[in-house]
Amino acid sequence: MTDKPLANRIAVVTGASRGIGRAAALALAGQGAHVIALARTQGALEELDDEIRRAGGAATLVPVDLKDFDALDRLGAAIHERWGRLDILLGNAGLLGEIAPVTHVDQPVWDAVMAVNVTANWRLIRSLDPLLRASDAGRAIFVTSGAAHKCTAYWGPYSVSKAALEALVRTYANETLNTPIRAMLLNPGPLRTNMRRAAMPGEDPTTLRTPEDLALHIVRLASPAWTETGKIYDFPTDRLLTPQMPA
Ligand code: NAP
Repeated sequence: MTDKPLANRIAVVTGASRGIGRAAALALAGQGAHVIALARTQGALEELDDEIRRAGGAATLVPVDLKDFDALDRLGAAIHERWGRLDILLGNAGLLGEIAPVTHVDQPVWDAVMAVNVTANWRLIRSLDPLLRASDAGRAIFVTSGAAHKCTAYWGPYSVSKAALEALVRTYANETLNTPIRAMLLNPGPLRTNMRRAAMPGEDPTTLRTPEDLALHIVRLASPAWTETGKIYDFPTDRLLTPQMPA
């Protein structure tokens, strides 16, 4: 185990039950990290655990609804108690919400999208920042979307939430510039997952790249060798984007 690049590193992965989060959890564990896997679907987490163990890795399962913000504080306390530090935070879980004109969006949908895509990530940062600071190379990575910039018609709550997430992570990156923490955003582009199928039901999924294609790049962003902060890694173009102030 010790020859693996992420050996002995502790990683929190949200949305680990399927899609991008599941592929990332497997890849991080495959490189030696101990994965703390969060999602609501306990059965899917248990299947993930089995797969990680079969490959010789280790995981801790945390079945939780990310809208239970106090549970995220308790998570911080539990990680502090057991490991005293956190090396990797992958804020991946996300909710598409309703595809509808902003004039028709229901308040509960709006609130749920903001809670999972924005507030939960803020609460995770707030709860886990002391533990990331206790690491020699804390890596915080959050999954955004091109929707944050395109502001596509009918994707209102999702676009707004991802724009807010980007502002949150860039602010955190500026606040941790003088620490070993590196905070990055990741735009996966269209990938073959349940969320994409819900957003684009007419699309042929076999034309899309898979979460597994992305996962090795997540490992790269999570590694101590990664040096960039406050930027977006754009998977479709394999480029680093630096958001610019308007002239
Ligand atoms: P997905 O297959 O729908 O998976 C979403 C994950 O988030 C699941 O593991 C789900 O777990 C978890 N989750 C949702 N609500 C939760 C809650 N209240 N509490 C705890 N966990 C919750 O989606 P995906 O495509 O992998 O998306 C992952 C991320 O990539 C999202 O942030 C998404 O916005 C972003 N993204 C995806 C694409 C794409 O084409 N797929 C493109 C751009 C951005 P449970 O249901 O088990 O709780």
